[in-house]
This record gives sequence, C-alpha cells and structure tokens, in this order.
Amino acid sequence: MSGSGLVDSHCHLQHYRGEELAAVLDRARERGVGGFLVPASRLAEAEELLALSEREPGVWCALGVHPHEASSWQEGDGERLAALLAHPRAVAVGECGLDFFYDHAPREVQEAVFRAQCEVAIDFGLPVVIHNRESNERMLEIVADPALARLTADFHSFAGGAAMAAPLLGPRFVFGISGMVTFPKAENVREVLPLLAPEQLLVETDTPYLAPVPYRGRRNEPAYVVEVAARLAAELGLEPSELARRTTANFFRFFAKAGI
Ligand SMILES: [Zn+2]
Ligand SMILES: [Zn+2]
Repeated sequence: MSGSGLVDSHCHLQHYRGEELAAVLDRARERGVGGFLVPASRLAEAEELLALSEREPGVWCALGVHPHEASSWQEGDGERLAALLAHPRAVAVGECGLDFFYDHAPREVQEAVFRAQCEVAIDFGLPVVIHNRESNERMLEIVADPALARLTADFHSFAGGAAMAAPLLGPRFVFGISGMVTFPKAENVREVLPLLAPEQLLVETDTPYLAPVPYRGRRNEPAYVVEVAARLAAELGLEPSELARRTTANFFRFFAKAGI
C-alpha cells in the first residue's frame, strides 16, 4: 500500500456510483488510503458489494443485516449469508447489532437477528462488525454470553464511553474510531483512547456520515480518514506514520481473511 498506508475500516461506498465513486477512490488513494472495508446493510446488497470488491483493489466487504433492516431477515437467511461468505473478498459479518435510538425494528427482532449473525460468524471464524446505539447494556450482555465466547467483534464508530469500553478490553474486540473523535463535544470518544490496547485501534470514516472537522456537515468520503487518523495520533502522542502503521497492521490481523 502506498503513502501513509491507511485503511478506512468502515465506509459505505455503495452511497457513491459511477464516476463519482471512481473520483472518491482516486482522492483517497492520492492521500495514501489504500484499503476500504465496505459493510452491507441488507443481504440484497451483497452481490453489488462483492462485484465492487472484485473490481477495485484494496476493497473488501462485510456482509450482513443492519439492525435498522432486521425485520427483513427471513427463514433461510442464515444459510444464504453463509453461502455469500464463501467469497474471498467477504472478510466479516455485518454490519449488525442493536439500535435502540431509532428502533426501526422491534428490539426482540433486532436481538434475534444479531445473534443469528454472530453464530454464522463464529462458524466461519470471521469477525462481526457491530453497530450499537443506545443499547450498551443489552449489547454487553450478549457479547458476554458463553454461547458466543468465540465471537470477535469490531465496535465500529465507537461512542460508548469508558463504562462501555471497560468490559471490552480483551483481544476479542477492536474499536473503530471515526470522525467523531474530532468533534468538540465528543469526550465520550476521546476518554476511551487511553484505555485501549494499541492492538485494539482501527480508524474509519463511516462514509457518507460523520465527516470529521474541517469537513463537518459535508458528505464524508474515505480520503477524510486522514483527518481522523491525524487527530487520533495527536490524542495518543504518536507520529501520524506510526499511527497509520499500527492501525493498518491491526486491520489485517483482525480481518485476517483480507490479508490472504
Ligand atoms: Zn453503524
Ligand atoms: Zn455503517
């Protein structure tokens, strides 16, 4: 990977199309961002994301069902997901989890669909990419369930604060730090940083959402992971090049199938 060699560990590139997508990838690569993990929201997106990842170097995908879409989960979808995960560019399950802020699906449905996806991930030896909002307590109970003891998870765009992070400090978990780390009021993001082991840090944009300062309010894109990484490096007292080296090594260790 060229330049500073950053990986954007969570970017919904499916929000960009055609020439616009090509320009977004060019701008990222010009700034040394050479890797992109694109999470699905629905299984119906899987073929499109796999085609993108076959076409574009450095693009991998996570396949699964977002909690907003949990009501779309049907009988047989566990088998369908498992079949899709056989693809070499599908390196994780997700994004999946709980969202009790929007509650787009009933909570018991969100939980059942999340657990079903965790079981598929364990069967395949793949990590899950977790979306968690206003559901900390239930999420901690689920990931502590002995039935899911072999689960590994990326808590993407983590904003749970120190109380949420404290039980998650082992090697099974990594944390995606997003552009929120640059927001003036986001102490809940920054307070977690000194707690985490160096191996637990990833950087992400959550494109097209959460653009970092100074792009706040604009449509986010993976090139801006440079600003996320710069702020994270400053918070940790690291050189940007060292931060890039660490987070990229973490990405390929954690999403090991991407490194094959
Ligand atoms: Zn999310
Ligand atoms: Zn997302």
